[in-house]
Amino acid sequence: MGLALTVLGGSPAWPNPGQAASGYLVESDQARVLLDCGSGIASELRAHDPGPLTDIVISHFHADHWFDLVPLHYAYRYGSWNDRPRATLHLPPGGRNVLDQVAAVWDGSVETFEAAWDVMEYDPQLDLRIADMRFTFAPSLHYTTCYSIKIASGTSTIAYSADTAPTERLARFAHGADLFLCEASLKDAKGDSTERGHMDASEAGREAARARVKRLLLTHVPAENGNDFVLEKARAEYSGEIEIAHPGLRIEV
Ligand SMILES: [Zn+2]
Repeated sequence: MGLALTVLGGSPAWPNPGQAASGYLVESDQARVLLDCGSGIASELRAHDPGPLTDIVISHFHADHWFDLVPLHYAYRYGSWNDRPRATLHLPPGGRNVLDQVAAVWDGSVETFEAAWDVMEYDPQLDLRIADMRFTFAPSLHYTTCYSIKIASGTSTIAYSADTAPTERLARFAHGADLFLCEASLKDAKGDSTERGHMDASEAGREAARARVKRLLLTHVPAENGNDFVLEKARAEYSGEIEIAHPGLRIEV
């Protein structure tokens, strides 16, 4: 097997009805990685148990990309996952301090999370090796520090935009990916504030075309935008296969 991506969530920050926020499983022969852990993902993992996670990787500290680390860590400490092999949690730089501050609200600390996982911070300048997968990072254009993430194993590559406005860097970073998981949060980028931090479906399609990716999976799409509208906008810019992320969708590359 190369890589397989399974959509667990994919909602924007205000979750779509019945759909968790950002969270995706990336699996190879040797690893099962949870990519982002937004609100609703812990419940999704409990409903559709994929088996032991080897690692968790977080793109940035907006709530819809990591908040469910709080309930998920209970699964490991007190729930039925407590006999599973320890997973490693990979946070953006400064992440240990973020967890420390969050847990301080209930008199906890980063050790609260360390009771569940090995907690590391990745260096976005370096490759991160997880078994037979290689993770690389590129800063995105967002309202807080955020990293687009590329995962390679053998000849298979998945590129994940995370949250971002269009950047010169993104298309280079995602170049030639077998699967491009790209956000399309906005209905129309013209309505975005002067400080850009997200894309609309036209822009996502344009980035996919520039990056010459083999397949585009749009995500972070508000239900109100309408799937037909979103697909039409993206198809006007990119001629490859396009889908919109929905829970349970699994793509092997
Ligand atoms: Zn964000």
